[in-house]
Amino acid sequence: MPRMVTKIEGRGNGIKTNIVNMSAVATAIKSPPSYVTKFFGCELGAQSRWEDATEKSIVNGAHEQREMQNLLDKFLEKYVLCYKCKLPELDMSVNKGIIQAKCAACGWSGNLDNVHKVSTFIIGHPPDGSLTQNAAGGKKSKEERRREKAEAAASKAPEVIIGNNGGFTSDEEDEVKPMSRSSSTEEKEKKEKKEKKEKKEKKEKKEKKEKKEKKEKKKSSGGNDEKNTDSFSEDYPDE
Ligand SMILES: [Zn+2]
Repeated sequence: MPRMVTKIEGRGNGIKTNIVNMSAVATAIKSPPSYVTKFFGCELGAQSRWEDATEKSIVNGAHEQREMQNLLDKFLEKYVLCYKCKLPELDMSVNKGIIQAKCAACGWSGNLDNVHKVSTFIIGHPPDGSLTQNAAGGKKSKEERRREKAEAAASKAPEVIIGNNGGFTSDEEDEVKPMSRSSSTEEKEKKEKKEKKEKKEKKEKKEKKEKKEKKEKKKSSGGNDEKNTDSFSEDYPDE
């Protein structure tokens, strides 16, 4: 990382600190120069501005180079260096108004400092978009775009899940495709109903036949049955 070069400009109330090589410093730490400039301003309680066109980083008031360097270290700790492995591999993002990051080196992910005053600026100017558009006052449209993105992602999410499930087993495919499932079950149900009807009809026919046969048997052998039961009932009182 290049050593930060500062230059005090102006006089009196108009005195200001120019971070001459902010563009190079920001590139080295892979952070937007607007974030770093704003962070300095917040820490020093001074107005600050990053001009994208001229690549000028200005903080009002006279500030020593060493003081600025210490503040840059503080920024690195909060928004550049991984909270776990301390490597400068954090990939920052803003999700639902929360500054988050994932480490490309060790895989750590979590929330960054969302309390520091600069967090409001970062959330208003998320790192995924063009900073030029933000500087031009596209804050509202940017937020709208983020909402649209979030809504699109939300509406896409279930489709992705269904697609993934469909690829696993045939059973799950049936669940995924309700049309094919309902039609197949309907066919099954129809078949079962038909089979049941046929079985019922067969049963009824059988029962009718059996009843007829029983009636015929009773007619032919009815007398013997009556005699047997009579003889049994007569035997009981003797025992
Ligand atoms: Zn890490």
